[in-house]
Amino acid sequence: MTIKPLPPNVINLIAAGEVIDSLGAVVRELVENSLDAQANQIDIAIFPELWRIQVTDNGTGIREDDLPYAARPHSTSKIHALDDLWQIDSLGFRGEALHSLAQVADLNLATRFSGEIGWKVDYDSQGEMMAKEAIAMATGTRVTVSHLFGNWPVRRSGLPKLSQQLKTLQTLIYHFSLCYPEVTWQIWQNDRLWFSLSPTPQVKGIIPQLIRGVNLSDLQAWQEEITYNHDNLSAYLNLVIGLPDRCHRNRPDWVKIAVNGRMIKCSELEQTLIKGFSRTLPRDRFPVCFLHLKLHPSQIDWNRHPAKSEIYLHSLDFWREKVLEVLEKALRLNPDTLSVKVQNERVTQLLKASENKGKYAISPHTKPEKGLHALNLKAVAQIRHTYIVIEHENGLWLIEQHIAHERVLYENLQDNWQLVPLNFPLILTQLSPQQVERLQQLNLEIEPFGEQLWAVRNAPEMLAKREDCKDALRELSHSGDLQTAQVATACRSAIRNGTPLSLSEMQTLIDQWKNTRHPSTCPHGRPIYLSLEESSLSRFFRRHWVIGKSHGI
Ligand code: ADP
Ligand code: MG
Repeated sequence: MTIKPLPPNVINLIAAGEVIDSLGAVVRELVENSLDAQANQIDIAIFPELWRIQVTDNGTGIREDDLPYAARPHSTSKIHALDDLWQIDSLGFRGEALHSLAQVADLNLATRFSGEIGWKVDYDSQGEMMAKEAIAMATGTRVTVSHLFGNWPVRRSGLPKLSQQLKTLQTLIYHFSLCYPEVTWQIWQNDRLWFSLSPTPQVKGIIPQLIRGVNLSDLQAWQEEITYNHDNLSAYLNLVIGLPDRCHRNRPDWVKIAVNGRMIKCSELEQTLIKGFSRTLPRDRFPVCFLHLKLHPSQIDWNRHPAKSEIYLHSLDFWREKVLEVLEKALRLNPDTLSVKVQNERVTQLLKASENKGKYAISPHTKPEKGLHALNLKAVAQIRHTYIVIEHENGLWLIEQHIAHERVLYENLQDNWQLVPLNFPLILTQLSPQQVERLQQLNLEIEPFGEQLWAVRNAPEMLAKREDCKDALRELSHSGDLQTAQVATACRSAIRNGTPLSLSEMQTLIDQWKNTRHPSTCPHGRPIYLSLEESSLSRFFRRHWVIGKSHGI
């Protein structure tokens, strides 16, 4: 569409008011134009001392024929007639921003529409095009606003402190990035990069860039298509929340709501969100959440406020209900929140906390020299026929049964390596001379028994009675030394994971294991147990929170 002046009947319906009243407002208007021009790379350069702001985008650019109209009052390419007011799908539509900027600053445009050449244009304070000069540039637009409020000293002096303005500006850009996560943002201050934001396919990926300490895995995103009112309009409700056990804030500064690509203030929906989190967060803490409603344009009236930050939303009660429903779903346990990766991260945290506690993770109250064997370890359950849960005075442990037993057997073998005669010799086939030699080194009685056959007449005690003794001996023929043979024997003889055990069997194993010399790892070096000390657990479950506090008393 070309840029044209709006007819008077449309102008009369548009909320009038001061558009440009701060640095932030300049950036807001220019960025909105870049987004309306489909840009996905937006650079913002601020020179506060010069009162200059420059926004460069890779959007569609402006046609040469449109340049004379761009900064005229009420001139826009986005709507043209009254009916269009109910179909607004762009951020701008009033055709006022460039005109207002021309009034309060020096306005310069450099732009190139695809298929045309680039143009550099200056406007006078009425928004009339002055000089026009051909330039070489890529498709897109660069708007430079200089000497902002130069002729309006009262406005300048009425502005908040620069640091405050910059903070507002940063928040503004954060908000844009939440609404347009596919855009690459670079923000410069006096020619130095201030901050940048990387594009992500989903808004979930933006939040960790904006809040320190929040990871992707702390967030849950939920999208739902909703059909509403009699016209069967369809809308999308996008919600990203910080999981309440992992992120919350001391202020409600991260309860954010956007409608059709624009962050808005809507205290009714904010309250709905906060209420939806109630009883999931500690007292006086607030959730992290971003709700983006994508509605049919006819359902929104943007003309409540000149900055368009407040809107009239049709069927508010309906939306409050839907928001609660979607929030309920996002808060439930689901495969994302339970993903192995996420849980691993949590266990890692827990492990770190436990591992810091030294060798056996015994609390300071237990004298280390008393050692593991002095602890009263009680087997209380078996999990997945693999892990034994042990309760003790300082917390709980998980033991992997196979490797704990392997440790027990290995030390046993080290102490009592005994060969016992076999009732019937075992016949092994296909042994290489080296294998025969190795078995002899282990003091096994082995002799030829015919073509490619050998008879073995004794075996390690632990293996002698096993049905798979033959396989075990073959395995031993590969191990060069006694130690390796003992490890192999222990491993083969140890209780397999997946074997059900009775409580007393578990207790026997634990009692044997706690008396081993090296209980922390199996002979292959794998850790045998995970200690979850009571102090780590109570920290994890936030037991230090005063009960009265968490009950909201
Ligand atoms: P509005 O955005 O309400 O239409 P503006 O005064 O902000 O009014 O802009 C006037 C017109 O200038 C827009 O309608 C658009 O056609 C054009 N324009 C402004 N900025 C850009 C830009 N960055 N890229 C492409 N076109 C632009
Ligand atoms: Mg605009």
